[in-house]
Amino acid sequence: MSGKRDYYDVLGVSKSASAEEIKKAYRKLALKYHPDKNPDDASAEDKFKEAAEAYEILSNADKKQRYDQFGHAGMGGAGGGGGFSGGGMSMDDIFSQFGDIFGGGGNPFESFFGGGGGGGGRNSNVGSNIRIKLKLSLEDLRSGVEKKIKLKQMVAAPGLKTSTCTTCQGRGVVRKVSNTFLGQMATTSSCPKCNGSGQMVTGRPAGANPDGLIYKDQELKIKVPAGVADGMQLSMQGQGNAAPGGLGPNGDLLVLIEEVQHDSFIRDGKNVLYNLNISFSDAALGNSVQVPTLDGKVKIKIEPGTQPGKILRLKGKGFPDLNGYGTGDQLIYLGVYIPEKVSSEEKKILEKLRNSENFEAKEVRTDRSFFDKLRSFFE
Ligand SMILES: [Zn+2]
Repeated sequence: MSGKRDYYDVLGVSKSASAEEIKKAYRKLALKYHPDKNPDDASAEDKFKEAAEAYEILSNADKKQRYDQFGHAGMGGAGGGGGFSGGGMSMDDIFSQFGDIFGGGGNPFESFFGGGGGGGGRNSNVGSNIRIKLKLSLEDLRSGVEKKIKLKQMVAAPGLKTSTCTTCQGRGVVRKVSNTFLGQMATTSSCPKCNGSGQMVTGRPAGANPDGLIYKDQELKIKVPAGVADGMQLSMQGQGNAAPGGLGPNGDLLVLIEEVQHDSFIRDGKNVLYNLNISFSDAALGNSVQVPTLDGKVKIKIEPGTQPGKILRLKGKGFPDLNGYGTGDQLIYLGVYIPEKVSSEEKKILEKLRNSENFEAKEVRTDRSFFDKLRSFFE
């Protein structure tokens, strides 16, 4: 799953591309890798499906926002798998879902050969990304949190001078005519001097780097939604470093989430695991005991005759699902505390109990389903 390509890269558009640009880019790819045009070419079919998957996400405002924020990790479970329907999309699904992209029933290739070209001239003069780590407690990850952070960001130096690019005269693109077997072909590409911005740095103030940028201390608020997990990356668009000369969009701020180990709990996907030791007497006689959760303390009932190894479930005390599919539980693994030291008086009582009929240990069956169940809890 980690080898998945960035959806923007798949479609060859920038993160700031408009819905129309995204649609256009997909259309171009879909026509290029169309199965009718590439019979028996498995790699074309894969590319066709990959483009459809990228388009499914980027053409949907909600999914796009989620993807922009969390990347592929946000499209499925915590592991980044599942979730997305495109992985299992058939060709028929793609056509029925995005059929309109081909121009409403007309010959798709007409528009392809007629309206092709274009592209090639976008501003690739963008700032670099800033990467930071953000350590969060399980409590914060469960409830969501807003954190203030400090970082050094590169910004355009005050007094920076720019002027029109002399290579492309401000157009951002350069044209090249070449001879091919089809005759003369003109192609346009991003200007190599200004990276497509049409402007260049002509005077930089003292202290600025060759791109005319300086470091500035910034304070930012980062909103972490409830349910985020260790290893996920939040992407804050446009909060990264300024583009060279300030002549283009900023990079992004990429925030890697790190979970701080908790003293009492272990996270297991949506669930949270907790070991509870009860006393021998509570296990035998039953009681009501207090248990910590990530959300304050709750009382739970111990039934008389409770055996060690029992697993209790506190519904909804786990982590919310990022995609809104419910909330996990707190699983309480019950242990029974056996005294390590006893007084002579306690010893007398226990000796008496040892020979008492009900205190004789009963046989437990060693059956596989018990171990399977146990394993499934911790998988
Ligand atoms: Zn230029």
